Amino acid sequence: MLKITKLNKSYGATQVLHDISLEVAQGQVVAIIGPSGSGKSTLLRCVNLLETPQSGQMTIGSQRLDVASMSRADANQLRQQTAMVFQHYNLFKNKTALENITESLIIGKKMPRQQANAIGLALLDKVGLSLKADSYPSRLSGGQQQRVAIARALAVSPRVMLLDEPTSALDPELVNEVLQVIRAIIDHQTTILLVTHEMAFARDIADRIIFMDEGVILEDGTPEQVFGAPQHARTARFLQTVH
Ligand code: ATP
Ligand code: MG
Repeated sequence: MLKITKLNKSYGATQVLHDISLEVAQGQVVAIIGPSGSGKSTLLRCVNLLETPQSGQMTIGSQRLDVASMSRADANQLRQQTAMVFQHYNLFKNKTALENITESLIIGKKMPRQQANAIGLALLDKVGLSLKADSYPSRLSGGQQQRVAIARALAVSPRVMLLDEPTSALDPELVNEVLQVIRAIIDHQTTILLVTHEMAFARDIADRIIFMDEGVILEDGTPEQVFGAPQHARTARFLQTVH
């Protein structure tokens, strides 16, 4: 389970997230949509503590912490239960596809290289890139790099997987292969928070849609509810612009 209670985040005098509360059952797939600047990325970055919120509580699994008083060790422990996939892949340029995936296992989890490589190769197979294990990111297409990034995120067996517009930087013809991989990793055990502008995909794969506007969750429901019968005029207007 992921539970967020009264999370607030400001940059200087600008408050970006206002009292966000959200509870997501383990294994649920949640698509987060909303206009530019509404706080979608900030919310994901707060969940894995890439950003430190000013106040709020977070629970992942059995670990609960208050962000205002957490220790560094608490923060690290929480962070280890999440993994993030970014719009621009953020692979290590000087490491092969396989090394990108095994790094966190060998360095972070102190796993023997042989064992890490076996896991890495299985994950490369899962994202359809068995033949690219020894390729460096510069030799991979954007879609392939993003698939490696997804495999890398899976390597740590996160409870919560955070994907921030994973297809937005891709050429249109490469979007589908990444969407297929995202579809394939849904296992109903890993909680997935996906920020996306791919509305048809969100509607298709998500158990739940959250619409954010100006730092609050304005709408939260099934795809049928949010896309079919939005409660707020603001949501309806947004959906008209993206369809
Ligand atoms: P987009 O769809 O364009 O990615 P978003 O919903 O992800 O938008 P955020 O990136 O979370 O929006 O930004 C929310 C607000 O916080 C914006 O007004 C943005 O300018 C501001 N913001 C984000 N990061 C920072 C930062 N590091 N410093 C200052 N302000 C920031
Ligand atoms: Mg964003």
